[in-house]
Amino acid sequence: MADLLLRGGIVHRSPRDILVRDGRIERIGASLAATGADVIDVAGKLVLPGFVESHIHPDKAFIADRTQGLTAGGPTPQILVAELKKQFTVDDIYGRARKVLELAVRHGCTAMRAHVEIDAFVELRGVEAMQRLQRDLAGLLDLELIAFAQEGIFNDTVTQDLLREGVGMGLRWLGGCPYMDKDQRGHIDWFFETAQALGVPLDFHADSADDPALLTSEYIAEQTIERGMHGRVTLGHLCMLDVLEPPRRAEVVARLREARIHVISLPATEMHVKARTDTRRTWRGVARLGELRDAGLNVAVSTNNIVNPFTPYGHPDLLRQALVTAMVAHLGNLDQMAWLLEFITTNAARAIGLDGYGLAEGCRADLVVLDARDPAQAITEQSEKLYVIKAGRVVARNTRSTELRLSSGAHALVEDNIQVMPGGF
Ligand SMILES: [Zn+2]
Repeated sequence: MADLLLRGGIVHRSPRDILVRDGRIERIGASLAATGADVIDVAGKLVLPGFVESHIHPDKAFIADRTQGLTAGGPTPQILVAELKKQFTVDDIYGRARKVLELAVRHGCTAMRAHVEIDAFVELRGVEAMQRLQRDLAGLLDLELIAFAQEGIFNDTVTQDLLREGVGMGLRWLGGCPYMDKDQRGHIDWFFETAQALGVPLDFHADSADDPALLTSEYIAEQTIERGMHGRVTLGHLCMLDVLEPPRRAEVVARLREARIHVISLPATEMHVKARTDTRRTWRGVARLGELRDAGLNVAVSTNNIVNPFTPYGHPDLLRQALVTAMVAHLGNLDQMAWLLEFITTNAARAIGLDGYGLAEGCRADLVVLDARDPAQAITEQSEKLYVIKAGRVVARNTRSTELRLSSGAHALVEDNIQVMPGGF
């Protein structure tokens, strides 16, 4: 593979060249010599490390057309999907999930950690499909898989064994969902014991509801500390933190920090699913992410669901999730938008334990070049991802151009990527 030189991109707020060799960032500096490298001019364009999906469900994506979706007083999304899941075949899962992964790459994603549902309904068909994808798309993105118990582990007699089998087949994480079992603590204990026995890290869908009596994240943090699993546990959702009284929330957050729990927020799903019976001041279901970051937690944001009853308009574009997060979490000041992109890059990478990730010499050359000069513009304009680079190879190149047809004599607007022809074409 030829060396690659990205010329003049905005790297850590300054114009810099990036020289890529053997899939890694060899040098970052000013006016680097191109000798023999393929040169891409990205002058004035924002360069970031590739986006990282840390919590996503490709196996149940693109099924909104198989169900009526959520209705007042109707079934939960879990019930709707459980019914559909019985009919999933390996090829069906593969085709829908592949579309998710290809879209994700097109939108700047270079690494993904996906949940694979394992239970009595779908058994190990999702594992087979997702492992095929892992191999087939290996050059496009790194795909980590979680053996995930969406249906709980005490509701049938096969799920616990199937989860162990999933890890035996090569899945590198165990994923629990305490609120799907009546005995939440028993569920959490089983996952810690099994994860320790199998030597894998843990992820939980946790505290998705709004009743503080059901809180589990504090117990998970305590178990993490007691069992010495600091930094090896991620929690998705944590919506419940928002309904705790501030002093109580501070106690729980302190425990999460002590356990070095990674927090993954899923704002698009929360806003679609939560608080459907509220009649005023509708709860938006998203934890106070700025507050959690200020408290020293590692906070990431992810897409979660794509075109299914949980999020019918879900789409694996993390720049979109950054905008959704800015809107729902009151994060719109320029300094906030500057670090908001860390939620979908460096923080997400830390949450899933990616090595050699980042915009620094020696890191893997997983990069995205945006048609923007800074994060605020990228989020506000939902800028195009001009180049997506995986291990030093351009895997997606995108353009977005608009032609406005104005009548003769009208004002001509000229913006970044809009060509205006005042006299028409
Ligand atoms: Zn999820």
